[in-house]
Amino acid sequence: MAKQGMSALIIAIALCAAPAGASSLDSSTQAFLTEHGPGALLAARDDGLGVEFAGLFTSAPVAGEPDLAALAFLERWGDLWGYDPQEILEVVEVASISTLTFVTFAEVHEGIPVEWAGAKVTLDPLGRVRQVVSRVSFSHEFASPDPALSPGDAYFVIASKLPHLVPTGQDRLAYLPGGSGTASLVWIVRTRDRSSPDAPAVYVDAHSGEILLARDTNVYADGNVYDPNPVADPTVYRRVLPNLTSTTNLDGTYARSFSCTAPGGGWDYCPGRVRHAAPDTSGHYLFDPTEPSFTDPFSEVMGYYHMDRINSHMETAYGHAYTCGGHRWMDVTVNMDYGNAWMGDQDDDGCADITIGQDAYDYAYDSAIIYHEYGHTVNHEYSDLGWAFDGLGPDWSPQGVDEAFSDYWAATLIGRSFVGEYASLGTPGELGWRDLADHAICPDNIFGEGHYDSPMLSTALWDIREGIGMDKADRLALAVLGSLSNTPDFDEAGRALLSQASALQSTGVLSTADVAVVDAAVADHTLVGCERIVTLEHGDTHLFFAQGFGGFDVPSGVQFMMYAPPGATRLTAEITQYTVGGEYTVYVNKGSPVHFTLEGWTLTIDDYDYMFDGSPDHVTFSEWSDPPVEWDTEYYYTYLHNSEFMALYVNAIIIAFPPPDDEPDAAVDVVEDTVPDVPADTTGDTEEDVPSDVTPDPGSIKEDRGCGCTLAN
Ligand SMILES: [Zn+2]
Repeated sequence: MAKQGMSALIIAIALCAAPAGASSLDSSTQAFLTEHGPGALLAARDDGLGVEFAGLFTSAPVAGEPDLAALAFLERWGDLWGYDPQEILEVVEVASISTLTFVTFAEVHEGIPVEWAGAKVTLDPLGRVRQVVSRVSFSHEFASPDPALSPGDAYFVIASKLPHLVPTGQDRLAYLPGGSGTASLVWIVRTRDRSSPDAPAVYVDAHSGEILLARDTNVYADGNVYDPNPVADPTVYRRVLPNLTSTTNLDGTYARSFSCTAPGGGWDYCPGRVRHAAPDTSGHYLFDPTEPSFTDPFSEVMGYYHMDRINSHMETAYGHAYTCGGHRWMDVTVNMDYGNAWMGDQDDDGCADITIGQDAYDYAYDSAIIYHEYGHTVNHEYSDLGWAFDGLGPDWSPQGVDEAFSDYWAATLIGRSFVGEYASLGTPGELGWRDLADHAICPDNIFGEGHYDSPMLSTALWDIREGIGMDKADRLALAVLGSLSNTPDFDEAGRALLSQASALQSTGVLSTADVAVVDAAVADHTLVGCERIVTLEHGDTHLFFAQGFGGFDVPSGVQFMMYAPPGATRLTAEITQYTVGGEYTVYVNKGSPVHFTLEGWTLTIDDYDYMFDGSPDHVTFSEWSDPPVEWDTEYYYTYLHNSEFMALYVNAIIIAFPPPDDEPDAAVDVVEDTVPDVPADTTGDTEEDVPSDVTPDPGSIKEDRGCGCTLAN
């Protein structure tokens, strides 16, 4: 079949050989065998007018790049294949598999591809031809290349004669070789069957309007899958694997599925790709789940089935058709020996693909992981979702917006608010369990890391879906993505939700009631005006992530604020490392946030009052510290973190008051528990939460400004 959209026309050259007669075929066959040896395997065309297969031979090396070398070889032996000098072969693909190179040619006539006609030449690394398959339509009588019907006429013919078929909007002009040496000019219209998974291509004669052929482009096989995951439903279902284009492996219109080869060490967890899933004698892929296994074919079937589902769904439902390199499929590579999953370009072909690993549990058994990673490609098609910065420091929000939409695409397709409910049974990580039915709001749920910040937006999107339904909510989500800048934060996402809902209302996609649901969700999750400042009160504990890049001081990008009310004797932020951390420094500014500026790629803190270095386990301002606590003052603080890896910390806030004279209240109770009424210079106290541990330490408090702390990136 001719391939569309390839970088064709690299070579277009007429083959200059005389039409083959029986005697010239005999003589060229003899010449070929003389040159390449009698062991060459030749197969004649049914009509006896040429050879359609030549293998088991080794030619002399042919000079030039593979496409030119292949063409030169075809041309030299044109008599053997029976080429007509009027025909033209175009190179449509040069592929390398293992050590061999395969050059694919398509036949064209008057600039119009001839359906299924062409040739394929196999070359070895020394440029020697090892096989030729030649299927050309020579000697046909071609219909006029100027169609009498438009594509719209062809659609009309299909609608009136085959009303159960819905054109997908993909059509192309081609010659269709028939019997009696003729070739008809046809419109090939791709359709979908309303009542089955069939995807027939209909061939309408572009002169007569006659339907010449309708052939299903799907290859059918059944496969065993979980749907959506074994926690939600442990049944292994036997399902049709739709849209396969191969009968020998999991290649299809919308998906191709592979396994990683074993890691070779270091960071390359998926150095190559192999395939473990082969069809049985009936063409089916009926494997049982096997855990643990890094070679189980069930994983590959899961990869194919669920990638096909979301990739075709986004086009069918919303017209979002992912394409790259002229094809619609996206590759999935499973069975990686590493407990993570990502979207990227694993095979360096310039197209997005997704890679899915496992720890104690195979993430590929959880369809939400496949959908989530595919969702990243949807997001990135509309926005770069890049790195952002403002006066509060680096802003990890674009990553949070990205993760929020990816979780949303997974949850909305499955119709379940849980993401990663099977994968997260193992080690929680980038794909830890998230429930979009939770209620996350800004700024309480800011943690300084994309996945953990994302619920502020993803739970709002889920609320909207619950309120207006999947179809409308998905359309709104796509519109918002389409409208975002390359560095959106949660505030921008919230504003875009409001304005895109309004825009969709004006075009009739959403109703007034729908827009009210959207407005309420945006308000409910405090998205508009969302700032990366978390206010902490007495008794609050708040997790946060400190990003890490080896050797650099990386600001957290989140600021915290403690307020010292009149009468407060002590204000303490206890800081505990939850995971293996690095070194950190705390910056404090009174009255306004610690301020950053970026010049070039150097980030400078240019406004702060105090700096506490040496990874203090708490920072305290009290009556006895130097400097002392100041009443009616907002203390803003943030962190610089120096580590190779991201680390998790927790803040615990204590705001203490004098011991009570009478009637204790809640705050006073805490005071009695925790605050010694001793001066800071009392020694011998080793309790962590006693202020004398950290203050005063003149060496760690600097009141100069603009320390020149830099983040190189
Ligand atoms: Zn993600």
